[in-house]
Amino acid sequence: MRQTNKSDIYLDNAASTPVDARVLAEYCKVAKDCWGNPSNVNNNYGVCAKDILERSRFNIGETLGLDPRGIIFTSGATEANNLALKGIDCLQNGRCAIAISAIEHPCIEQAAGRLQNMGITVKMIPVLPNGTVDLNALQQALASNPPIKLVSIMAVNNETGVVQPINQIADLAHTYGALCHTDATQAIGKAPLDFLNKVDMMSLSGHKINGPKGIGALWVRPGINMHPMLQGGGQESGLRSGTTPVPLVAALAKALKIACKDTKWTQKLYPYLKQLETTIQTQYPEAHVNGLEGLRTASVSNIAFPYQTPVIDNITGVALSAASACSCSKPEPSRVLQRMGLPENYAANALRVSIGKVNTPKEIQRATTLIMNGIEKSKNLG
Ligand code: PMP
Repeated sequence: MRQTNKSDIYLDNAASTPVDARVLAEYCKVAKDCWGNPSNVNNNYGVCAKDILERSRFNIGETLGLDPRGIIFTSGATEANNLALKGIDCLQNGRCAIAISAIEHPCIEQAAGRLQNMGITVKMIPVLPNGTVDLNALQQALASNPPIKLVSIMAVNNETGVVQPINQIADLAHTYGALCHTDATQAIGKAPLDFLNKVDMMSLSGHKINGPKGIGALWVRPGINMHPMLQGGGQESGLRSGTTPVPLVAALAKALKIACKDTKWTQKLYPYLKQLETTIQTQYPEAHVNGLEGLRTASVSNIAFPYQTPVIDNITGVALSAASACSCSKPEPSRVLQRMGLPENYAANALRVSIGKVNTPKEIQRATTLIMNGIEKSKNLG
């Protein structure tokens, strides 16, 4: 078990982010003052909660330039992604196909696997060595039978930070009569969101944007017929039963507004992240920076090594991920890196460094020294 402590420099912002003080204040204010049930507007407590819920929905729509009526609040991106895949109309009778990329988050890949077990055709679109989806392969899949009804491809990969050409993907999907869903969890506040008015569905999560855990959303273009995963009181346009957590929703709206406005930190900190990559590559030319040839966000660096001893096990004083946070408990090679064509020994020894707005240049410089020490130890151990 790796030892970490709270004084470690936190460079694992793709896994989760600290809650912004303004967001926490918003949560506390709503939780204290407006705790009624938003579905029960027979009393003023409920009216207050309903008012904040709808105001937050409106504000999120305004921040993202999306029709607020399409926003379905969920517990996070995992649930939003499951709803996107399992909820679309044609899947109910098993008579359609979907396409996902080969580097989706496990919640998409495994939801698609479940659909496949139920008889739905799932086409997995490969990625190029630079980590971007092979658009020719996508076009071929869309042109073949059975017809694809939904293309689901993430906007930014959580392990490598590689940005996908979602505008082109949505255009292709629409040309062949398919809907386009994107998991924008890692894109918000870190990559241009110019695809939002093209896609038909989009998922996001609060805790990746300095908001709280336990809240996220799926946006569905109004007019698209969806089926719920949960049966119950019919909240969230019937698509997500369960009492909507209004304080979390208000906090999400605040976090989203701040994340979309405050993006300057990436420009300020990126040179230091780049310097970390250069320092490693100069001293250890055998290290491989993943996705370097593609377009990446300025917040993630994924570097793989050919040594048998995991570099991450020899780094002290910095909180990092071995691959994606969701799969790092399994000492397996990263499937994302392998599908980008990286050899198994490299894919099993990758570091993900992900910066966030609370980091400072000094922290990244200090972390560079600590990471270099860890690499040296692993290399010496073989
Ligand atoms: N999609 C992506 C791209 C992610 O990075 C994550 C979180 N690791 C998720 C989905 C799942 O998000 P949540 O934790 O909100 O369920």
